[in-house]
Amino acid sequence: MTKKLFGLLVAGVLCGNVHAQTMCGTDELYNKLKKENKKIELNEAELELYIKQQLQKIDFNSAAKGTAGVDDTTYYDVPIVIHIVHDFGAEYITDNAIFDAVSNWTEVMLGENADTSQVITPFKKWVGTPRIRLHLATVDPNGNPTKGITRRQSYLTGNAGDQAKLDGWPNNMYLNLWFISKFSPDHSGAAAYAYYPSSGAALPYYDGVIGLATYLNYDKAIPHEIGHCLNLQHTWGNNNQPNVACGDDGVDDTPPTKGHLTTGCTNGSLYDTTCATGYVKVVGSTIIDYPDTTNAQNVMDYTYCQKMFTIGQAQRMRIALTSGTAGRNNLFSVTNLGKTGALVPRPDMLPVPDFSVEKSSIISTERTYFQCADNSTPFTFYNRSWNDTITSVQWTFSNGASNPTSASTAFVNNTFSQPGWVTVSITATGNNSGSATKTNTHAVYAADPNTIMPGGYFQGFTAAEMDKWPTFNYYDNQFKWEQYSGAGYNSNDCVRYRSFDDRTSPANKSGTPAGDYDDMFSVGFNLANFTASNLKLNFYTAGARTTKSPFVQDSLQIFMSSDCSKSWKLITTLDGSDLATAAQNAEFFPAAGDWKARTVNLPTANYSDKVFFRFRYWPSENGNNLYMDNFEITPFSTDVNEVAHQPGQVKVFPNPTKGDCELAFTTGLSGKTSFIIKDIAGRVVYQQDQVYAPKTFVQHTILRNVFASAGFYFITLINDNLATTEKIVVE
Ligand SMILES: [Zn+2]
Repeated sequence: MTKKLFGLLVAGVLCGNVHAQTMCGTDELYNKLKKENKKIELNEAELELYIKQQLQKIDFNSAAKGTAGVDDTTYYDVPIVIHIVHDFGAEYITDNAIFDAVSNWTEVMLGENADTSQVITPFKKWVGTPRIRLHLATVDPNGNPTKGITRRQSYLTGNAGDQAKLDGWPNNMYLNLWFISKFSPDHSGAAAYAYYPSSGAALPYYDGVIGLATYLNYDKAIPHEIGHCLNLQHTWGNNNQPNVACGDDGVDDTPPTKGHLTTGCTNGSLYDTTCATGYVKVVGSTIIDYPDTTNAQNVMDYTYCQKMFTIGQAQRMRIALTSGTAGRNNLFSVTNLGKTGALVPRPDMLPVPDFSVEKSSIISTERTYFQCADNSTPFTFYNRSWNDTITSVQWTFSNGASNPTSASTAFVNNTFSQPGWVTVSITATGNNSGSATKTNTHAVYAADPNTIMPGGYFQGFTAAEMDKWPTFNYYDNQFKWEQYSGAGYNSNDCVRYRSFDDRTSPANKSGTPAGDYDDMFSVGFNLANFTASNLKLNFYTAGARTTKSPFVQDSLQIFMSSDCSKSWKLITTLDGSDLATAAQNAEFFPAAGDWKARTVNLPTANYSDKVFFRFRYWPSENGNNLYMDNFEITPFSTDVNEVAHQPGQVKVFPNPTKGDCELAFTTGLSGKTSFIIKDIAGRVVYQQDQVYAPKTFVQHTILRNVFASAGFYFITLINDNLATTEKIVVE
């Protein structure tokens, strides 16, 4: 472990690092949050008043003599829930590791940790016994049995903060603790942070502790955070950083201190008297002589020599528990202990069967969910079953799998000879209570390596056609690709990325879409014979942003593979105001005028007989939907190509033109067509009358020498007696 400090968070903002030199942003951020939430300050004042009143009833002088004065015989039982927010990395900690950790935290919260024997003499009589017992809940908020652990796969595990606090349970019934793999840059350097009751009352859905999974059972990192949840400050207070100025935490028997950094258990730290020489408190007519050395062994210090809470801290935590602020006083109520099943033994439960699709040797940096059915490099499936000691596993795989069944408890590699969606089924058997099965009918996609020619291929994204255009919602949330039958470009079908961010209700504050991404894949195309054609992707999009955000932060990346999906090249990114034209706070549904023609040049270097496209959408906070329709591959730009579908239109391209230009149109029922080009003075410079095959796409070259000089010209096309006029700009 190179990290030595706890991050601490006051009021929801992290107090960081870890490197001794790093400033802790607590004060600044705490005040910022207090400004945003006036309620926090009121909550805090109310709680402090209550604590002061309760503390007056305690005779600390007698307590120090060990004679009486303090009620610490009552045990407080607190139901807890552990949320593992993971992406199947090392942060996917086992149930057993969690059980061990909770039992170690509880020892500290009881004041029964064995290493209090190492407390230095001046503090021996001030060692407190909070007598707080932590219990993993056995009943969840819906009344169902649980082991007090939830697991959620999320991209937020690698960029965590309050938004990663997914699946929180009511904070007046359970103390919530989340574990993640990495904090976001604004929390970087932190190992964990917690909410004081005053903040927890204002923002109940963020109340609790969040920490790195690596700190689950690291020294007393988590009891330190639980101390914050029960209103303990750091020993030096919450107004500055450690090691800066003498400060106080409002607890009499933790002497004033600058706080210590990662110096460890050196005599210099343990016997430091800088801020506490002659430290006494006068209570009524009694003078209480507290130690003059700072309490570097305190759990709430940064010395990393944590052994103890003091009597005063224990009392403050117990009083915070009896306060209604953030509903702490409900946690240990008899009714709540019954509802949460906190005091009954952990139930025997069925295993939760689960598996992940992992990185393979095809693309070593990404998980592989899509590849050609004839690819000899396998997909890799890992067993991730939990909630019981798993004694055996049984897998089955569809689509002509190379290993149609397996009993591996680790992982299975598989190739699939039959194209299409692959069904994977895993049955996990536990040591006590039986087995359970998970079946995923869309686990991975084996693409058909028999590709099609692009000519005449048209994709309008009807529901029936989507099976050949697999979409993946990797993190199983509301932000995803889906077929949509309520709109389309000149049709009622299209595909959309549902990026609309409607997380407005308090219960839905977590889980920002920022960081998510999802893919849609095309069918395979044979472009081997088109290397001289400069083909283009043609499609239409209609997009919007919400007015809550001044910028469109969503983006759509389009990738092309020329090797049957073994590797991908980014060919374009649509983003910003180009991606989203409309702005509205309601969910966006496109009208006819919202569609925009898209043309993406396909680099000839990528042409092969097995070409696929991957559409990767990155949603963002306050995003809105993007709709896509009418996918084709042609030699034309999308607006030109459109005339192939829209008789009566004429397109000139390029326009403006410097040299020869092309005229494109589709003939009508008779095939009789005339076109006339006039200059700006109305003089005819070119005319042609011809009979083509009916309803045929025509492309006609007009040589540069038709135009006598640069300037504006007008072309009128007459098709079945219907005239259309377009302007040509000659440069
Ligand atoms: Zn802290």
